[in-house]
Amino acid sequence: DPATGKLPLAVMIAAPRGFCAGVDRAIEIVEKAIEKYGAPVYVRHEIVHNRYVVDGLKEKGAIFVEELDEVPDDMPVVFSAHGVPKSVPAEAQRREMIYVDATCPLVSKVHRQAERQIEKGQHIIFIGHEGHPEVIGTMGQVPDGQMTLVETVEDVATLSFTAHDSLSFLTQTTLSVDDTAEIVQALQMRYPQIVAPKAEDICYATSNRQEAVKAMAPSCDLVLVIGAPNSSNSLRLVEVAERLGTDAKLIQRASELDPAWLEGVGTLGLTAGASAPEILVREVVAKLGEFREVSESTVKTADEKIIFKLPRQLTD
Ligand code: SF4
Repeated sequence: DPATGKLPLAVMIAAPRGFCAGVDRAIEIVEKAIEKYGAPVYVRHEIVHNRYVVDGLKEKGAIFVEELDEVPDDMPVVFSAHGVPKSVPAEAQRREMIYVDATCPLVSKVHRQAERQIEKGQHIIFIGHEGHPEVIGTMGQVPDGQMTLVETVEDVATLSFTAHDSLSFLTQTTLSVDDTAEIVQALQMRYPQIVAPKAEDICYATSNRQEAVKAMAPSCDLVLVIGAPNSSNSLRLVEVAERLGTDAKLIQRASELDPAWLEGVGTLGLTAGASAPEILVREVVAKLGEFREVSESTVKTADEKIIFKLPRQLTD
């Protein structure tokens, strides 16, 4: 631009991006719980993996802790969107606490499937990332030793089950669609008898955000994903872009944007993980505008109209 002396930058913004229905609901649950019970309301684990969201709720009166034993008996507590092992609500009941479960209904659906598969006498192979709270929560739906975690195709080769064992599989909701398909294929090759879940466990929001990045990344010199380093679905978006040969970076806020990254970049793709609010997308676009003459466009691959109801406990 001759007036500003800035080089042009085409910014492609993926749609869908950012908040999913489960995250929307979880945040609203904390807000409604504060309204109903008064501050403070405790939240076990980051309600969703985003510091901006967590800080905003802290200001409204939420106190974040990692474990239930950090919450006084007489204080209300919300369980995060990622889900919790059965032992957590059981302990809250034993202590006669008021608790609200913000587990995403799509995670709860996986929990119920796990119960049913165990009832049928199947051992469950669970595809997921070790240590992620959703994985801890889902594995905690069944008795110890009845679910085995695999993270990679290589892990499948190390399993010691036989072709006669009664097996089924389930997956984390925020995995890479393509990686998961490979792992499932490896499982079905080794264990043709393995029972698949009724419907895909990877959630609509995860697949839609990956699809949009796939459509956008080939036209981009760099893709920026707004999300936290502990956000599984955000990390997968970085991988999707990289696998298409496009450099990609995960950033939490505009302040992390390094202008050196923009050298030689004419087209930049922008998306946000399911726990990242739209305000952070606008913040990054504004920051890009400090260095370049930005022109925005949208790459839309799906419409999302899903909304989840709040727990009745908060709407009565
Ligand atoms: Fe639910 Fe999917 Fe959002 Fe996780 S990413 S909260 S499973 S909709």
